Amino acid sequence: MRKLFTILGPFVLVVFISSSCSRKIYYTENKEQLNKKVWAWMSGKIAMTPEQWEHYFSCASSAGIDAIILECHGGYPEIQGDTTDFTDKGAITIIKTAIPYAKKFNIELHAWIWTTNRTELNLRESHPELYQVNALGQSCLDIKLYNREHYRWLCPTRPGTTEYLKARVAELAEIDGLAGIHLDFIRYPDAILPYGLHKSRGVFQDKVYPLWDHCYCEACRSAFSKKTGIDPIKLEDPTSNTEWMQFRYDAIAKVASELCHVIKSHGKIASAAVFASPVESKKLVRQDWANFKNIDVLFPMIYHKFYDKPDEWIETSTKEGVNALRTHKSSAYLCSGLFVGHVTKERIDEMFDYASKGGSKGICLFSLEGVDKTEGYWDALGEAIIRYKK
Ligand SMILES: [Zn+2]
Repeated sequence: MRKLFTILGPFVLVVFISSSCSRKIYYTENKEQLNKKVWAWMSGKIAMTPEQWEHYFSCASSAGIDAIILECHGGYPEIQGDTTDFTDKGAITIIKTAIPYAKKFNIELHAWIWTTNRTELNLRESHPELYQVNALGQSCLDIKLYNREHYRWLCPTRPGTTEYLKARVAELAEIDGLAGIHLDFIRYPDAILPYGLHKSRGVFQDKVYPLWDHCYCEACRSAFSKKTGIDPIKLEDPTSNTEWMQFRYDAIAKVASELCHVIKSHGKIASAAVFASPVESKKLVRQDWANFKNIDVLFPMIYHKFYDKPDEWIETSTKEGVNALRTHKSSAYLCSGLFVGHVTKERIDEMFDYASKGGSKGICLFSLEGVDKTEGYWDALGEAIIRYKK
């Protein structure tokens, strides 16, 4: 998804509307333990003032949040490189700015990047061939999927994609004081949007339609054809061809596994934000996350209302993820991601309980900005975290 939230458009723009937190210290236990660790996603911007950094990190620390996953490369990078230098100077600047605050407030810092969804202009201009093509033969550079400017996706089959992303991950993983790298949008574009969003986005998706079905670029068609003798663009019902579905699951899993290997080779924690349940992830975005290798933590974004699901689905979906990891003999730690807008401050305990009962080792909240803009949420969260960690 992240993400799922970007398809909500305006939500990404709602940042830095600061409310106060009481600065009560809610949490003093050992942060090293993995069990019941509390994480939160937060958007980072070069333009943030020292006061804003101080505000978010101090409030998060007081509330008992152990780790912040800081967005440093999103859909609208603040610094655009030219076609001779692809170094992500914006992402590096944001992380280096945040590190002193993370140290000061004893918060573990992870760099959150969009992965196969890459919008940087220098890459688009110099390597248009790396971008995905739909079943109508249209490049995602030429159309605005879901009317979103940022829906520009790299093809996981092309070696150039993996090489480019490895370089971006490595330059961040080299930063001292950073605990890990967090891969978001490590998937195909939505073949089907989460069900609760169809109406607001004006789409009718009772099945997969070719406009939203990817990737049918020359490299993918030729690789699949070599393997099976079938040109996938000619398939009448591509989703019913299990080999073609598997080809795409494997392509994304391979990129994810290789990037996680790079992250870990730098001694950092590798993690990813993934769709809510293994079944929905494969169906909606061809993301077979239980098969990601070399990864330490998986954060299924169980933003249940976007799937038109009741609160109890947090437990069901968490359980499905835990079981899938077990079936695939993955050693990854699963941490349920909850959407603050779906967790009222009066019912935080209940939602945390659903995640715990499903087998989640911790909780991750989307997002700190969401907490900040809801009056009284910081204190309600701090108190809930104390009860959660008991
Ligand atoms: Zn392709």
